[in-house]
Amino acid sequence: MKNSFPQRTCIGCRNKFNQSDLLRISLWNDKLTLDKTGKTNGRGVYLCKNNECLEAAIKKKAFNRGFKRNLSKDDMDTLERDIKSDINDKEGVTHKDGKDSEIQGKSSITNSNAKNSDKVYKYLGFAARARKLSVGATATEQAIKKSKAKLVIIGKEVGENSKAKLRPLCEKNNLKLIIYGSCEALSKATGREDKGIFAVEDENLAKAIIETIEKEKEEY
Ligand SMILES: [Zn+2]
Repeated sequence: MKNSFPQRTCIGCRNKFNQSDLLRISLWNDKLTLDKTGKTNGRGVYLCKNNECLEAAIKKKAFNRGFKRNLSKDDMDTLERDIKSDINDKEGVTHKDGKDSEIQGKSSITNSNAKNSDKVYKYLGFAARARKLSVGATATEQAIKKSKAKLVIIGKEVGENSKAKLRPLCEKNNLKLIIYGSCEALSKATGREDKGIFAVEDENLAKAIIETIEKEKEEY
């Protein structure tokens, strides 16, 4: 489980990466900030540390979409300049001061946010060991039909067909269906291989997982 870093999507290339490898840009009280500490309040979007993704994001107006508002040209220009100087700092030979604070910022991002998803995977591991977990599409379907399932978790790469099949079943049974993490991370957490669909059958663990994920969702 020690490799289960939280994953975030770069708004430039739309690929997922470890959150600690991405830049976080936050919007709080109308102030757009390149968030070097990872602790700034407000909504956050993530971006790879390179000019290509920055330019793609600007071109696609991905910042507007990420923050759900029209950012002014002035704000965008300032942000672009900040990000570019940050990228160049990192690519070039960094002067010592900059580098130290960067590393500090990074580890605090990893620490504060790794906790949440680590928790989710830990709870899933508990459920597996307590045999309160159905694994795979068929077993999950059975668990729902027998009213044993308290929560359904599906990995991000699972195909639309499987999701579409489970969604109405969950709705009918008043069950939460959560798309969360990669199949690899979920499988690892539960001691399985190549699995992407799980039903948690323990009420308390289900509740704990839902609460943890809700907290995490406040981030983009
Ligand atoms: Zn990117």
